[in-house]
Amino acid sequence: MNCPWCDTAAGPRALHAHLSDQHGDQVSTTGRDGKVFYEISCPLCGARYEQLVRKGAGDPEFLAEFETEIRMVAFDVLVHHLLAEHAQAAEQAAHEQNDVGDRRETKR
Ligand SMILES: [Zn+2]
Ligand SMILES: [Zn+2]
Repeated sequence: MNCPWCDTAAGPRALHAHLSDQHGDQVSTTGRDGKVFYEISCPLCGARYEQLVRKGAGDPEFLAEFETEIRMVAFDVLVHHLLAEHAQAAEQAAHEQNDVGDRRETKR
């Protein structure tokens, strides 16, 4: 599969690492009502995912400490989205990540 932000091609697991390393700023975290959310958008179709971060909400130090972890989770969501919605390399993906290998559907 291809990185949606650059031309890097990799399997889901490698792509996930690439996203965390290179595109960490694509994940934004926002605090609201004492809760912390992370947010990530798919650059291909604009789908937006917003999830509540479940622990330590409201603590600014928490965000710094767990920023990497939050990114990992957010990119996990994105990689699954890419596989489900934009998978041109679904076969390659199936080898590496069995749990999404059956979510192969052709759209249009
Ligand atoms: Zn990239
Ligand atoms: Zn998308």
